[in-house]
Amino acid sequence: MSELSTMILDRIRDVPDYPKPGIVFKDITPLLADPVTMAAVVDALAGIQQVDKIVGIEARGFILAAPVAYRAAAGFVPVRKKGKLPAATLEESYDLEYGSATIEVHRDAFTPGDRVLIVDDVLATGGTAKATVELVERAGAEVVGVAVLMELAFLNGRDRLAGVGLHSLVIV
Ligand code: IMP
Repeated sequence: MSELSTMILDRIRDVPDYPKPGIVFKDITPLLADPVTMAAVVDALAGIQQVDKIVGIEARGFILAAPVAYRAAAGFVPVRKKGKLPAATLEESYDLEYGSATIEVHRDAFTPGDRVLIVDDVLATGGTAKATVELVERAGAEVVGVAVLMELAFLNGRDRLAGVGLHSLVIV
């Protein structure tokens, strides 16, 4: 295992029964509070590929994506839950375990042909990342990859992202 993987795994905490019984939540706040690990994570994500824009997925994705964009000298674009962005948007809905969710991006967030890397903290079922890929493509950009801090392999999110480059700093 790489030194970076060990640093990350040591600083992500399992919280049982959050947000509901039976779920073990991966809490990244200890990692965010450690400046050495945080810098190593941001450098690793920023070095994946040369892109024009980094897309962050609300809310924990923002925390990683904004410094990655700065480090990569790329623009930052937020993908937000419905109703949070002020100007004209495109939206995409996707299924959750119970019900559905809708995410949005500003219609004018990208210059046509922009190359984009999507950043989030955790890939679970892949539903959020897949919907974000579709949204970003509909907004006229080219998705060159999805990058996450942690991939939960047992939920098979990778399968939903077939054809999209998936970069996971750690896979558990
Ligand atoms: P998915 O759509 O099932 O892949 O869930 C991924 C989204 O839910 C991401 O935006 C994550 O921030 C969030 N998420 C799911 N599980 C966890 C977790 O254990 N820790 C932190 N975030 C999670």
